[in-house]
Parts: sequence; C-alpha cells; structure tokens
Amino acid sequence: MMYKNLGRTGDKIPAMGMGSWELAGGNDDGVEALKHGLELGIKFIDTAEIYGTEETVGKALKGQKDVFVATKVWPNHFKHDDVIRACNSSLAKLGISTIDLYQLHWPNYNVPISETMSAMEELQKQGKIRHIGVSNFSAKEVEVAQSVMKNSEIVSNQIEYSVVVREPEMDFVEYSRKNGTTVIAYSPLAHGVLYDNRNGKLMELLSEIGKKYGKTATQVALNWLISKENVVTIPKANSARHVDENFGAVGFKLKGDDVSRIDAQARAFEQRSLAASFKERNRSQFGDSKTGLKV
Ligand code: NAP
Repeated sequence: MMYKNLGRTGDKIPAMGMGSWELAGGNDDGVEALKHGLELGIKFIDTAEIYGTEETVGKALKGQKDVFVATKVWPNHFKHDDVIRACNSSLAKLGISTIDLYQLHWPNYNVPISETMSAMEELQKQGKIRHIGVSNFSAKEVEVAQSVMKNSEIVSNQIEYSVVVREPEMDFVEYSRKNGTTVIAYSPLAHGVLYDNRNGKLMELLSEIGKKYGKTATQVALNWLISKENVVTIPKANSARHVDENFGAVGFKLKGDDVSRIDAQARAFEQRSLAASFKERNRSQFGDSKTGLKV
C-alpha cells in the first residue's frame, strides 16, 4: 500500500480506502468485500451516520487492528449536543472506542460553525475522535471553519473528484496544495457513471493507456487521482472482484504525458457532479451556500 500524509499531522494514511455508501448489508456481501480489502492491506474505511452502514463496517472491523476508520456527522446534527450524541452513536455502531477521522458531512449554513466545531474539539479532547475533517466544503468554508477552532486543525476535506468531475481542481485541490490539507476524493468512479456509454471515449483512452502498464481502465482512473499531491481516494465495491481490481490501482505511476492525455479527454466529457445536484436539493434544509457559514 502507498501511504500519504494526513494533513500536517505527521500521521500517514493509505492512499486508497474503501467507501461504504450503498454497501450491501443484508446478505453480508459488503462485509466480505471489506474484509477482503483489509486482508489485502486497504486499511482505511469511510462511512457516515446517514449511510446506515456503520454496523456493517463494524462487523468487518471485528478482530482487526490498525484500520483507519472515518465516519461523518450529518448536518441535521450540527448543534453542540447533537454532534456529541451522533458521535457516541457512531462509536457504538462501529464497535470502536475512537473514530480516527470524524467529518462534517456537508456544510450547514443555519447552525453557527463555531458551535459545531467546539463540539468536535471537545470530542477530540475526550479521545473519542482522533482527527477532525470536513466534507463538501469549499476552500473558503474550510478557512472559516478552521478560524473558529481553538486548538485543532482540519486535516482533510472529502470532496467529489474523479476523471470526470474536475471542478474541485479550481478550488479545494488547489488550496490543499498550498496548505497540506488532505483531499479525500469520493465517487472516484463517478458513482459507476464512469462506465456509462456517455463516457465511452474516455474509457477507451483509459483502457489504451492501461495496456501500457498492464492495468485496466478503472485502475488508471484511480491511479490518476492518487498520483496527485495530497489526494487519497475511497472507491466503494460490493464484491471481492472489484476490491481486487481497485487495489491494483496502487503501486504504479502514470507517466506525465499519459496524465495530460487523460486531462484533455476528461475535460471534454466533464459531467454534472452529484454534489451540485445534492446542493440544490438540500438548499432549504441546510441553508443557502450563498449566505456563507454563520460564525
Ligand atoms: P464510486 O466508488 O465512484 O463507484 C461505486 C460504483 O462503482 C459501484 O456501483 C461499484 O459496484 C462500482 N465499482 C467499484 N469498483 C469497480 C470496478 N473495479 N469495476 C467496475 N465497477 C466498480 O461511488 P461512491 O460510492 O459514490 O463513492 C465512493 C465512496 O465515497 C462512498 O461509498 C462513500 O464512502 C464516499 N462518498 C462520500 C460522499 C460525501 O458526501 N462525502 C458522497 C458520495 C460518496 P459494486 O458496488 O457492485 O462493486
């Protein structure tokens, strides 16, 4: 496994983890896929209270050591006492005593960020969480959230980023280069959309490039992400076969001209991000990003 810095903490985390949104829970396939990944050395799992998969992740974690566990609090729990309750509930579901990375899942423009962050710092002081991260925050929002913290640092921002969703390069990816904050690239396979006919030409290019390295199109798409400074990624897979393929994305390096060819082709196929449609749907519930975070 390749390791990357977690923010400026000095800690290292695997460049590739395993996501768990829509992870199969009922028939235990998801547990088996996660356990298989852990055996390979993918010792990083991402989940969230809203996914309903923390218990499934907890099953996979039984008897395991040294797994970096990341979960998230949903924005309807951003008031101080709700953050504390949500964290305790996640710990119980996961069956662990410390969450390695606790992330604010989306900004909430209605609850003052100072209230939320003070609860996060309290949890960290109590040893219930090791590190504090955010998700779906813009660079500006990360700065605001950081400015209200007394003693802690925001170590990561989990954002949608893939060969076909390039928008973050204009904002947080650039910020992370300057500030050393880790980018956790979610939906690295565009939530499966990468395999749509729409992306046929791009897939052809990824396959063609992959042949030079003995790799598949998927492995090239994932490697393209982790070859970037400060970027780690968390593909989700329900089967050991997919986990095996994704794991094969680590351990080789794309040459510069191949990266440029992917960049050029991907821009032509850039798609509307999941995050943009989510923001629109939830505007009324969590406030409007145009108003900015309340301090
Ligand atoms: P993704 O990882 O981009 O794509 C998952 C899809 O790709 C699934 O349909 C999966 O199929 C398929 N897949 C996985 N490996 C494959 C392979 N080697 N070949 C072909 N297909 C493959 O999508 P995602 O789940 O949206 O994103 C990954 C993780 O990021 C999530 O699980 C979650 O932890 C996190 N996330 C966070 C946010 C946020 O707001 N912070 C939002 C979205 C996602 P199978 O399941 O059948 O294997």
